[in-house]
Amino acid sequence: MDTDTTTAVLILLGPPGAGKGTQARRLEERFGLIQLSTGDLLRAAVAAGTPAGLAAQTVMEAGGLVSDEIVLAILRERMAAPDVKAGVILDGFPRTAAQAAALDTLLAEAGQKVTAAISLGVDDAAMIARVAGRFTCARCGEGYHDTFKQPAQAGCCDKCGGTEFKRRADDTAETAQARLAAYHAQTAPLIAHYRALGVLQTVDAMQGIDTVAQELGSIVSRVSA
Ligand code: AMP
Repeated sequence: MDTDTTTAVLILLGPPGAGKGTQARRLEERFGLIQLSTGDLLRAAVAAGTPAGLAAQTVMEAGGLVSDEIVLAILRERMAAPDVKAGVILDGFPRTAAQAAALDTLLAEAGQKVTAAISLGVDDAAMIARVAGRFTCARCGEGYHDTFKQPAQAGCCDKCGGTEFKRRADDTAETAQARLAAYHAQTAPLIAHYRALGVLQTVDAMQGIDTVAQELGSIVSRVSA
């Protein structure tokens, strides 16, 4: 990773449905940081039919975790791009202890470390409801929800005016259960890892999107000052 010592490395930790993607996009807009979502990178690999994508597809459809080897290869490649010098918000990475250790090593090689790991807390039942109803604008990626956030004008994206929307294949109640189980088993223990490193922050993500965005904004302003 080619960075300088002032580059912010922020991690959004939380179960699927916690709002990591939505909030990462807001932080990207507000602070000029780069959102780096391993889920998005994997979905792009699946769509492109690369060997990594083909290997990841079945696991993703079942709501399991893709192998550390594949995820780390994809992440390393993305972290080598020049735009990450602006600072990154890691969304959906790391998800296992091995990934967290690999990230620490990758950053240490560049004289860097994690600036803050922000844990977004939601309760399990709310998470399933959030995931099962969500959809995004096919053009700009703005996120919506059947119950919580419909476009102001039905069928038309508030942000870009796009009229096509898409739903993720793994955003069903059944798959969400499997993803939640993977979160509790493999990702939640990382909270202790980042607490031990002294970089853990927590936000109650049961609050409204704007309130969560405000609290995250305050944290990011503080830690990157
Ligand atoms: P997300 O978009 O973050 O919800 O990720 C969608 C799916 O991609 C997950 O359910 C996993 O199957 C896979 N995935 C994304 N990021 C990772 C990761 N860091 N480690 C393992 N699997 C991942």
